Amino acid sequence: MRLCADVGGSFIDIAAFGSDAQIRWRRKTPTPVGDWAAFVAVFADAVQAAPTDTLSIATAGLVDPIGGTVTSANIPCIDGRPLARDLSDALNLPVRVVNDADAFVLAEAALGAAQGHDRVFGIILGTGVGGGLVERGRIVSGTGGIGGEWGHGQVVHGSPRAPGAVPVFACGCGRHGCLDTIGSARGIERLHGFLHGEAVDSIAITRAADAGEARARATVEYYCDLVGGPLAMLLHATSATIVPVGGGLANASGLIATLDARVRANLLTPVTTPVVVAGRLGDEAGLIGAFVAGG
Ligand SMILES: [Zn+2]
Repeated sequence: MRLCADVGGSFIDIAAFGSDAQIRWRRKTPTPVGDWAAFVAVFADAVQAAPTDTLSIATAGLVDPIGGTVTSANIPCIDGRPLARDLSDALNLPVRVVNDADAFVLAEAALGAAQGHDRVFGIILGTGVGGGLVERGRIVSGTGGIGGEWGHGQVVHGSPRAPGAVPVFACGCGRHGCLDTIGSARGIERLHGFLHGEAVDSIAITRAADAGEARARATVEYYCDLVGGPLAMLLHATSATIVPVGGGLANASGLIATLDARVRANLLTPVTTPVVVAGRLGDEAGLIGAFVAGG
């Protein structure tokens, strides 16, 4: 059996996989975000419960492909640490660590919505906007692990639907006008507030849009204008042919269909089949991606 984990800011999800990629054992525990010893103990306990030769981890935060250093604002006890090496020393096991968005894309490429595509640009539309590029089953890591992270860096906003200039919101990364500020779940709420002057959560907005409510529908159309343009540009730049979507907004089927239509309308080469599609592996994508990454 191989032990794999999906480390998030709230929970660590650990599972033991058989060689057939099926989960045999699984445990979910709160993440001890500020306590390294407790963090190590979560894995030591799992190794006791499900003996293994290797550990593969998908984690929130950037993973430097050279030194293995993790940058994670949400989990201070691993921030700045060469996580694979430190866990390997503590557990006396080989440990592999990959970024969780990259793991999502690896999983969808191997066993999910992007099977059969050589080049996959997967995106996360959730608490933040993230992404990853996978080519022939391998992560394109980029300098410092930045590959596929399309949420930050200012984009030029514009839409014929906007009743004036598009607002430039401050981003948590210190910049202004990042895609993350309008493309995340909080982002669609900001756009709805800007268009209609009301505070509504992202789930209510997308549900109301699916039910045909005019203001929510306008917000979703506006959102897809603003996110679809940069995404189409990325498909041109990367030559990716499929975009599996993870994160909370992946559950909004109307939004995903509208985003797909907007992206395809912006592609220079006509495409007749869906390009932007919801991921199929749900909350197991990180674990499965860790399994695939562990080879
Ligand atoms: Zn930013």
